[in-house]
Amino acid sequence: MARYDLHKDLQEIDAPVILFDNVSKAYPTGTHAVNHISLEIRKGEFVFLVGSSGSGKSTMIKLMLRETKPSRGKVYVAGKDLGRLRRSQVSRFRRSIGVVFQDFRLLKDRTVYENVAFAQQVVETPSWVIRREVPKMLALVGLSDKHDAYPNELSGGEQQRVALARALINHPVILLADEPTGNLDPKNSFEIMNLLNEANKRGTTIVVVTHNREIVDSMQKRVIMINKGVIVRDEKGGYAHAKN
Ligand code: ADP
Repeated sequence: MARYDLHKDLQEIDAPVILFDNVSKAYPTGTHAVNHISLEIRKGEFVFLVGSSGSGKSTMIKLMLRETKPSRGKVYVAGKDLGRLRRSQVSRFRRSIGVVFQDFRLLKDRTVYENVAFAQQVVETPSWVIRREVPKMLALVGLSDKHDAYPNELSGGEQQRVALARALINHPVILLADEPTGNLDPKNSFEIMNLLNEANKRGTTIVVVTHNREIVDSMQKRVIMINKGVIVRDEKGGYAHAKN
């Protein structure tokens, strides 16, 4: 059976990392969360997805992760139609994408080291590689002195850095971050964004959902704004001149 290998797919073809082809998503309740969205994100891009609450941002992220399927249209990641992945391929596909959430979602009964190591264990990384890679990644996010701490012994900013280390440890082609700074103060928010920027410079394609205008303004990246499930703006720059 064909195994899902995002890195290999991206090397072999020059497809966009993410492609929405006229995608609509209506929930069973009748809400049209996403309406006829066509969108292309190329390898190495850094994209902010912005818009007011309820505009459809999380639904877009769920579509990219194949956590939900479009009602119409197709979502492709690395040239693969996600709607055609077999069930056995879906979990492998998801593990090849780094994901970070507002509420960190760390394993509370495991240490910082174990949280990051766990992401490598589930993809069957040899233990000698894990022992080498986890300390390197923790150093990269500035947590070398917190290996043995448990999540509840860390500040919000530190917990999000652990989540980021966990998301990046398997060298994902794409990192999706849904409100990663939603629970953080401005200083920690900028630190997380700097880490995302560094990951982007190392080649990871990054999509960040955020409400944080200051960050969007300061980073001057591509900004896709959605409103009522429709793209109302897609250009490089800040948030400030947007309509809402
Ligand atoms: P955002 O992330 O921009 O706040 P969402 O994608 O979460 O927006 O939601 C878009 C719209 O879809 C909203 O009207 C929301 O109430 C609705 N919605 C989201 N998830 C579901 C769901 N599982 N079932 C029904 N409606 C949903």
